[in-house]
Amino acid sequence: MNKTIFQCFEWYLPADGSLYKNLISTSSALAANGFTHVWMPPASKGFTGRNDVGYGVYDLYDLGEFRQKGSIGTKYGTKTQYLKAIQSLQKKKIQVIADVVLNHRMGADQTEDIMARNMDESNRYHAISAYHPVQVWTRYTFEGRNGKYSSFQWNWTHFTGTDWDELSKKHGILEFEGKNWNPNVSKENGNFDYVMGSDIDFSNPEVIHHLYQWGKWYTKTTGVNGFRLDAVKSIDSQFFPQWLNTMHRYGNHPNLAIGEYWTGNIWELKEYLSHSGYCMKLMDVPLHYHLMQAAGSNGTYDIRNLYAYTLSQTDPEFSCSFVDNHDTQPGQALESWVMDWFKPQAYASILLNRCKLPCVFYGDYYGIPHNNKQPVWLLREMIWIRANLLEDNIVDLYDDDLQKACWMAYSTAHPVLVLFTIADWKEKTVHEPSFAGMTFEDAGNPGNKVTFNSSGDGRLTCPPGGLSVYILEKDAAAMKKALKTKGGLRSLLSRKKS
Ligand code: CA
Repeated sequence: MNKTIFQCFEWYLPADGSLYKNLISTSSALAANGFTHVWMPPASKGFTGRNDVGYGVYDLYDLGEFRQKGSIGTKYGTKTQYLKAIQSLQKKKIQVIADVVLNHRMGADQTEDIMARNMDESNRYHAISAYHPVQVWTRYTFEGRNGKYSSFQWNWTHFTGTDWDELSKKHGILEFEGKNWNPNVSKENGNFDYVMGSDIDFSNPEVIHHLYQWGKWYTKTTGVNGFRLDAVKSIDSQFFPQWLNTMHRYGNHPNLAIGEYWTGNIWELKEYLSHSGYCMKLMDVPLHYHLMQAAGSNGTYDIRNLYAYTLSQTDPEFSCSFVDNHDTQPGQALESWVMDWFKPQAYASILLNRCKLPCVFYGDYYGIPHNNKQPVWLLREMIWIRANLLEDNIVDLYDDDLQKACWMAYSTAHPVLVLFTIADWKEKTVHEPSFAGMTFEDAGNPGNKVTFNSSGDGRLTCPPGGLSVYILEKDAAAMKKALKTKGGLRSLLSRKKS
């Protein structure tokens, strides 16, 4: 079966602890739609407690179990509900990918008085002050947890730097005395080791030992099947090969890791894959930017270049393609939203073409009330088609009008023909003798049918700026039945509305 990941959260989900419960009640519907993997949000307690999306990690060992930062549960529920949600998804043959945030810690319990120097934001190797006394939030005692699972307590020696001095009440990147940024990270701004909070020092053996201990505990406790690794461009590239290798021996034997290395530069991604020994796949950020550019090109983008210099083309086995995510959605840190009108074509490009491991964003699947976004048209149908019909014999059928894409997923049993245009009306005659006498139906427009003549010619059509996905009439009937009988598909959304 073709793999499809569901990223089961967006930034503005209500902070009501309901996500895990809702996942339990929708797990069978998600499986029926064709999802094989679910990417869950970071499970550990964040520094803003129940309001934390999960990336401001306070205590890795608190999965919604201890009264810390104002609540027992996280934004998404309690540890008990979390473990139940994982089991519920796995029972439906859906693998669970855990979001793991190892770059930084936030919301320390106490300050420490140490020496540090200010560094230039745009060149982190350039000091803009001498070492001077500072008071930094770097001491983590986790009193609410009281040593359960681990007695490890963080202090300043476990970090390289931070961005707030309590003494002067000033923001600014501080590098601690005796510390250096890790060299095995992105060279953005000179060195991109520092992102936010207190930056974890991956050259400290105590830290490394702790992260192995935690990883084994977490993997065993939760039984997750894989990892989504946050901010790997800011973490020592030498850390993950062995860490992942060790985790693969624990719990449910995680066999999948997907790193978030945020850059549109394919060479940087390829370099990272190589440096980290191909121990993980990476999100295909270049493809995301190409989709955004095609959408915003006012009908001028050359669609043949959509996959050029993307990971999905250069290293397909190490690419996880996506259209948007919680960071690119409107109002977020990496805002680069693919325009709404092009969303169906963008999803056709990752779900129905050659991408091996596409990821569907919650905000596109259910909509984003906060941003007034509706669910993407035809998305559920395309996920189903990918899961049930698509075979990997993809044949490109481009014409000279370069703003119009056409391809065929060839199969004698379940062919799929895709046609889209970012410009005006498109018609395309496809010649395939084995289709003679067969009738295709447009999955998004059932009145639009095409019967191939006795010579195997069929004329496909697509409206301006539109998308047509032709499948056999019998497959269209099966699809409608499968999607209709699973009324639970919309339940996450309807709950939120009520
Ligand atoms: Ca770092």
